Amino acid sequence: MPLYLLIAEYYTLFIPYFWQRKEIHSYFWRTFTRNIQTQSNMSIATLLLNWYQENKRSLPWRETQDAYAIWVSEIILQQTRVAQGMDYYRQFLTAFPTVTHLAEASQTDVLRIWQGLGYYSRARNMHKAAQMVQEQFGGCFPNTYNALLTLPGIGPYTAAAIASFSGNAPYAVVDGNVFRVLSRIFGIDTPIDSTPGKKLFAALAQEQLDKSQPALYNQAIMDFGALQCTPAQPACSTCPFLEQCEAARNGLTTLLPVKSPKQSSKTRYFWYFDAWNGNHTYLQQRTQKDIWQGLYQPYLIEAPLTEQELYTLPFIQETKAHIIAISPVYKHVLSHQVIEARFVKIEIAQENSTLKQMQKISDTELDLYPVSRLIEKYRIKAYSLNK
Ligand code: SF4
Repeated sequence: MPLYLLIAEYYTLFIPYFWQRKEIHSYFWRTFTRNIQTQSNMSIATLLLNWYQENKRSLPWRETQDAYAIWVSEIILQQTRVAQGMDYYRQFLTAFPTVTHLAEASQTDVLRIWQGLGYYSRARNMHKAAQMVQEQFGGCFPNTYNALLTLPGIGPYTAAAIASFSGNAPYAVVDGNVFRVLSRIFGIDTPIDSTPGKKLFAALAQEQLDKSQPALYNQAIMDFGALQCTPAQPACSTCPFLEQCEAARNGLTTLLPVKSPKQSSKTRYFWYFDAWNGNHTYLQQRTQKDIWQGLYQPYLIEAPLTEQELYTLPFIQETKAHIIAISPVYKHVLSHQVIEARFVKIEIAQENSTLKQMQKISDTELDLYPVSRLIEKYRIKAYSLNK
């Protein structure tokens, strides 16, 4: 039998079987897309860099190669939009212009500058990292990938960003923008937050990187994701990848990238006692390993209490408190939990043992103590109405 007939028979018999077996189908699909990737390596980098020439954003952290300033911007932007992060970036560098200034500041001062940005572990880690840089690198912020990875709060993404932006080192960044762009162009549905997904995208991003100009390439793909290939409404009709983009060709833009199913979030019930004694109030620092560690708060009882139960609480009775106001519920959504908080404003007649252990501060000193966004929102509303 001629060879071409043998090959035809082989495929007639086996292709339907392969197609029914999802994992085998998926293997062939990946092999096929890998071939596309290999063929289009250069063109993807070139197209991105051409697009970047025309569309790049002017951002202050792009104007510097100072690894410290780039680090500050990268940590701020991890969970924050660029527009909101810009002011914080400037304020942070004004307060702590060098890593030495940051290392020598108190944690409270660092958290005060960070107040309102959320995810406060970022600020605490920055403070620790600055102290390590001071001790281990003589106050000179490192810019090599491996040295950066030794600092708290710096993972592969941040290390790649700092090393490439400050030293043009050939490391591909893989942030939310990069996941989105690559998953759509290559039609990859592996969840981006799964271990296999992280490995796959890290390898693919590194493969696509233009190693002759990594800083420019990384900035280009991040801006492309932020401006063109946006989460909700990507501008496909004007996209330079329209012809080769698997998601656009197959109507999958709203389905990619894929994330693992969300963990259900738990609800916590907070009752804060905004206690006043004349023009003094009381704050305590959150020291336990929990949300808002290091921030300050009024006395807190975490329990699903009713309003009636408030009046019989030992805290109210021991302080002979007069209840001035009970706030409505403030709902505060965090990544894996929802806080339902209420604030009870009270005037006390005497301090009890709990209040004696807290910091007694005057109303003029309130701004010196960093608090969560939740408490800030309460204060803005309650104090402008009541004080
Ligand atoms: S064609 Fe659309 S989905 Fe594909 S890369 Fe361009 S903007 Fe993104």
